[in-house]
Amino acid sequence: MKIAIIGGGPGGYVAAIKAAQMGAEVVLIEKEYIGGTCLNTGCIPTKVLLHSTEIYHQLRNEAEDLGLEINDLKVNWRNLLTRKELVATQLVEGVKNILRTMNVEVVRGYAKFTSTKTIEVSLTAGGKRSISFDKAIVATGSKSIIIPVPGHDLEGVITSREAMSLEEIPESICIIGGGVIGVEFANIYSNLGTQITIIEMLPELVANMDQEIVNSLEEALLTKGVKVYKSAKVLRIDRSGKELQVTAQLGDDPFQVIAEKVIMATGRKPSGDGLGLEEIGVKVDRGAIQVDRLFKTDVDNIYAIGDCTGGVQLAHVASASGLMAAELIMGERMAMDFRTIPYCVYTNPELASVGLTERDAVMKGYKIKVGKFPMYGNGKSVITGNVRGMVKIIADENTGEVLGVHIAGNSATELIASGAVAMRLEATVQELITTIYAHPTVGEAIHEAAESVFGRAIHIP
Ligand code: FAD
Repeated sequence: MKIAIIGGGPGGYVAAIKAAQMGAEVVLIEKEYIGGTCLNTGCIPTKVLLHSTEIYHQLRNEAEDLGLEINDLKVNWRNLLTRKELVATQLVEGVKNILRTMNVEVVRGYAKFTSTKTIEVSLTAGGKRSISFDKAIVATGSKSIIIPVPGHDLEGVITSREAMSLEEIPESICIIGGGVIGVEFANIYSNLGTQITIIEMLPELVANMDQEIVNSLEEALLTKGVKVYKSAKVLRIDRSGKELQVTAQLGDDPFQVIAEKVIMATGRKPSGDGLGLEEIGVKVDRGAIQVDRLFKTDVDNIYAIGDCTGGVQLAHVASASGLMAAELIMGERMAMDFRTIPYCVYTNPELASVGLTERDAVMKGYKIKVGKFPMYGNGKSVITGNVRGMVKIIADENTGEVLGVHIAGNSATELIASGAVAMRLEATVQELITTIYAHPTVGEAIHEAAESVFGRAIHIP
């Protein structure tokens, strides 16, 4: 079986390794970086910046409380950017090594379908190469959306990609878009003392998550001096001397934000265009390659996975789809449980969610019971000085089944794995209660939230 995979991100490279493990002859075509957006310009570099800036912010503001004395704490921005590159390189080199070991052939260049059996690659090194295949997997990812307001093309108006490699730490940034990427950049730069303004069109920040846990983040951002405008629409951007002036509207009232940089964090568009897919019979809708539940396109031997399908844009979803597509192609019918996708925001507090929010559960007609436990009642959170946030559990009142777990707080993005496993195993709240959590850990807050579904949490009055 010869499989051609276009795109070396967490969708494509994971599919390549899995298919090779199962005995396929695999060619992986990548036009830019192995590791894709995630390793090079997305998940990994942003988390490196979040990690260091968070330590800096905590030491600067809480050293005394922690019993530490620090006299000359400084950010070395150059070194921090170098560390970001080194971490990404280390992970990318690791992936390249595995691909080599698994005999996956990596071809550098831009791929385009010429038929349902052949791809033409415009090679990065020059020239062209035709690659034939039995099955193909398209994993071409997504790109930033720039909202076409007047002034969107001015110097200083940037996307997440440039925002993670700025020459200097700006004095002020206006972030258009208060979704995951917007709030993560707000966290990075507000930790460094940059004046941040977020302008979000929807009435809520990170609108796809449970708003009670998002509120913990919003409070933390406001405490750091971040200004947040919600239900506000950006009208235009102008240059005003060395700075940019963003004009927006809140209801009928226009307002202006002056900032050194403007980050467009207004979502990402699937990259399914320009691949010659429509010409060979694959449906593509505004860049999103149309697939069925098994990631098959309208052409029987062509699959598409990850961001380019217009579904949930997360690295672990791309990888899970890649595993599934490779196994299906190799004759094993593996079905991932896409009800249990964890959603994470790596801010302070961290936010993490799996399953239904309270609002979604009610809208779906469930009769629910909700348990909540605040982090200020959790010993480990008090030890680390991270008492903002809570664990919230949504359960089916009739069966006790856990329908959703939502966490704001320290280690929320690690803890959510236990919520995902609970949901995957269709656990009940009673089963969470009868599980023993180590002390002192933040995980104990899950136990307490489960107890609180029945009004019986121990460490709250
Ligand atoms: P990509 O990773 O985008 O890879 C697609 C690859 O295809 C690219 O390398 C591209 O060069 C290549 N390609 C495209 N067209 C062609 C062609 N014609 N020929 C050859 N190659 C081609 N997700 C998380 O889960 N956690 C996070 O913390 C997180 N943080 C993020 C932070 C930022 C700032 C951004 C922008 C995204 C973040 N994401 C995060 C989202 C995550 O990066 C994506 O969901 C993930 O990378 C999608 O994987 P993919 O394989 O579908 O596509």
